[in-house]
Amino acid sequence: METEKNKYPEITLILIPPIFNSIDISSEEVNFISLPDIAISNKKSYQQKREKKIVDWAKEIYQKDYNGELISFLQKKSLIEQEKPLFIINYPRNQKQLDSFKNFLSDKKVNTIVISSVSDSVDEYMTENYIVCPLCEKIYRKKKDLKFLCPKDNLTFDWNELEIFTEFYNLYFSKNMIPVIRELLDIYDISSITLRNEEEVLNLPEKLLRIVGASS
Ligand SMILES: [Zn+2]
Repeated sequence: METEKNKYPEITLILIPPIFNSIDISSEEVNFISLPDIAISNKKSYQQKREKKIVDWAKEIYQKDYNGELISFLQKKSLIEQEKPLFIINYPRNQKQLDSFKNFLSDKKVNTIVISSVSDSVDEYMTENYIVCPLCEKIYRKKKDLKFLCPKDNLTFDWNELEIFTEFYNLYFSKNMIPVIRELLDIYDISSITLRNEEEVLNLPEKLLRIVGASS
């Protein structure tokens, strides 16, 4: 059994409240992937959503099971044959996705890292000052401009809609991901990273890389 598991890279599931997701790195040491990388068709569906609100579009796409797309993404990029650890950010994000994903994980070495904050004040500060982009799902500092141009997606959004989306996604996380986290904790090893302030939120990618460096 152990030999079977060694065939695959170590997989770490990173479960992070959306408002803390500052992870935008590619590294020599680790492959980071998240739903927007896997589900590339979602960008197209976003552009075709027309009058539909971002939140309604998000509710629709979050319901889908991306297990098949995830596996074919890993195969296409040959990520599964590499020894580099694979970090998957905020997937699975609901019970249905977890049920389907468990099969894939069953013959692999899996860790879980749960990111949390020490106090409500960090959450509040981040929510007041940052939004989450619905497409790349990274955080960006709020500005006074009328529109936000996401540098990763090259698309513009209204700040107002982004605030509504950010609130929705944070609530979605609490409602749907917390039960997922509980179930994962019963099965896999878990470590937890606690964030105390904005600086620690923004330094999270480096912190994760240090963990990888320390464990290899
Ligand atoms: Zn974006």
